[in-house]
Amino acid sequence: MSTLRFHAVKASLKREPIKINEEKRRSEIFGENVFNEASMRQYLTKTALNSVLEAIEKGTKIDRIVADHISTGMKEWAISKGATHYTHWFQPLTGATAEKHDAFFETIGDGLAIEKFGGNQLVQQEPDASSFPNGGIRNTFEARGYTAWDPTSPAFIYDKTLCIPTVFVSYTGEALDFKTPLLRALQAVDNAAVAVCKYFDKNVKKVNASLGWEQEYFLIDSALALSRPDIQLTGRTVFGHSPAKGQQLDDHYFGSIPARAMAYMRDLEHESMLLGIPVKTRHNEVAPNQFELAPIFEEANLAVDHNSLLMDIMQKIAKRHNFTVLMHEKPFAGVNGSGKHNNWSLSTNTGVNLLSPGKTPMSNLQFLTFFVNTIKAVQTHEELIRAAIASASNDHRLGANEAPPAIISVFIGAQLTKVLNELETVTKGKLSPKEKTDLKLNVVGKIPEILLDNTDRNRTSSFAFTGNKFEFRAVGSTANCAKPMTVLNTVVAKQLMDFKEEVDALIEDKGMKKDDAIFNVLREYIKTSKAILFEGNGYSEDWEKEAKKRGLSNNKTTPQALKIKKAKSTIALFDSLGVMNDVESMARYEIELEDYIYHIQIESRVVGDLARNHIIPTAIRYQNTLIENVQGLKGIYGDQFKTYAKAQLGLIELISEHIEAINTAVTDMTEARKTANKHDDLEQKAEDYCETVKPHFDVIRYHCDKLEILVDDEVWPLTKYRELLFTK
Ligand code: ADP
Ligand code: MG
Repeated sequence: MSTLRFHAVKASLKREPIKINEEKRRSEIFGENVFNEASMRQYLTKTALNSVLEAIEKGTKIDRIVADHISTGMKEWAISKGATHYTHWFQPLTGATAEKHDAFFETIGDGLAIEKFGGNQLVQQEPDASSFPNGGIRNTFEARGYTAWDPTSPAFIYDKTLCIPTVFVSYTGEALDFKTPLLRALQAVDNAAVAVCKYFDKNVKKVNASLGWEQEYFLIDSALALSRPDIQLTGRTVFGHSPAKGQQLDDHYFGSIPARAMAYMRDLEHESMLLGIPVKTRHNEVAPNQFELAPIFEEANLAVDHNSLLMDIMQKIAKRHNFTVLMHEKPFAGVNGSGKHNNWSLSTNTGVNLLSPGKTPMSNLQFLTFFVNTIKAVQTHEELIRAAIASASNDHRLGANEAPPAIISVFIGAQLTKVLNELETVTKGKLSPKEKTDLKLNVVGKIPEILLDNTDRNRTSSFAFTGNKFEFRAVGSTANCAKPMTVLNTVVAKQLMDFKEEVDALIEDKGMKKDDAIFNVLREYIKTSKAILFEGNGYSEDWEKEAKKRGLSNNKTTPQALKIKKAKSTIALFDSLGVMNDVESMARYEIELEDYIYHIQIESRVVGDLARNHIIPTAIRYQNTLIENVQGLKGIYGDQFKTYAKAQLGLIELISEHIEAINTAVTDMTEARKTANKHDDLEQKAEDYCETVKPHFDVIRYHCDKLEILVDDEVWPLTKYRELLFTK
């Protein structure tokens, strides 16, 4: 009997939901562990408070002396909440979060000690961060890196530690993290959008990008999850025959949430509330044991931090409930994988969502301007947007007939398509007063009504307009949202800058009226953005063919998808908007290639180990049982034994065939890995891993999964899909 598997199953059957203490209302505890405006008012001097608020609103620098006041107030607040340590909390290019804790405690001689936290410690730290990925940045420049306080994301306390969100940069100023380029991209889109908003409303001073993510995940009993070496090391199952029942009955989606999962969610939501993460929605997802959690949207930088923080605490809280959270995009073959839709829009300091139609024709023209410019930006940079969501794990999902394809397209619904078609026929040059009135009343003016009953939903689109926001649906569940958000906000910023230039040129050079100029430029954008608009089934083969005809990219693998990142045009784009210089861009390209290589390399080793050291020996053991049985039958029946041993003999042969196939494929895969490892060139290495190592996974899996359904269940070593997916 395979002991680990059956011990795990036994343990999982004894679990009970854990009682959660929820005495206070959520609105009462929301933000309790966050150094938010309310706490700042209590603990900071007026000058210090204003200085932080101004830094948040206008990006102004905080004076060093004021920083001392802030740190003192922050320390008092943190200690009053029981904190003993502080840490700079940052997001290195591993995609996870990083922290190094220091105690407030300090000795002052004569056996005395105090709690201390100065402005210097708040503003800047120098973690020994030489082991974080840097893509050569810190080799070519200074070896050191430092973290610097980001006042736009409030400090919080978790586990008695004051966490201060920071950026992570090299001594020469190159970004070593995800946050820095994101902040720069958000600044770029703010500047560009404010300039465009001025056509419509002179009072607009700031435009914020907002993000509402939807996190999908699997909850698996921890004993079961840890009984599988593949889950432990790669976050997914590399083998496993599909169970008799999967998701075909659709009985999990939006169904009642199982008691243990519910207890976990309540606990997680409680912690989220304390940390100021405004989680709001929870439900079962399509696959068994798959769930989703979504917050109320927030300013994009804060939303990104909150998603990273949430992913971290999800794992920690799961431990209390004897669960393992699988964030992987495709933990199980044959059932749905997990994504993280990124709902995105732009809103002004005057409270206007620029992607939501307004009440007047003019505000609707503003809506159309941002709507069409976003479409145009996605059209121009579709390949780069695809690259922003590329990873070894998301490759399993994109184009797997359940998630958006690797092709980026924009869905806008039938009614808005009609509006764009009408705008496309706008007269070139100056519009007659009649045409303008007509447009404003009957086309632009009707938009709010149209959207009221816009119930169009297209689950197969990678980038869909959903009434007052765009939903970027191809983002993977393990992703750090900063990556797609940096790219999206950068390309929209660039597009808005181009738009402004074109409109201004028509006004200044051609003497056009402002709205005539806007209509003219939008008309051309609509004409040139047609290829990206697609309303049909994104999962179909026909769409692949059609997309190819339209010239859209369809990069199915990460090494292919990443190539655009090193294109001259890409590097120039990020550089010109101040988001990343060429060194920063190339560093990220290299890190992502490396990340891809390591992921496939680890998976390949796990596949080889499981196949050779777990599955083949088990198959042989079972085969020996069969052989013993056949020999026994021969003893009884002599020459006639074959009549009675027919099935057994067939099984013995079949098992040998599978063993042979597995063994050969593992040998070939190992050789392929050796060849791949010889390349110094990362691109070539990644391509080899993708084209010559990875294809063996499917072959090995096929035969291992066949053995799973041949071999005696009592001896099978790997916890089965049925046990992993249907234990609640
Ligand atoms: P649906 O489930 O139909 O996609 P929801 O209204 O439930 O739409 O929203 C899903 C996510 O979109 C939530 O996280 C929500 O906060 C977010 N969202 C809603 N409005 C916006 C917006 N203007 N900008 C960014 N995200 C938004
Ligand atoms: Mg949604």
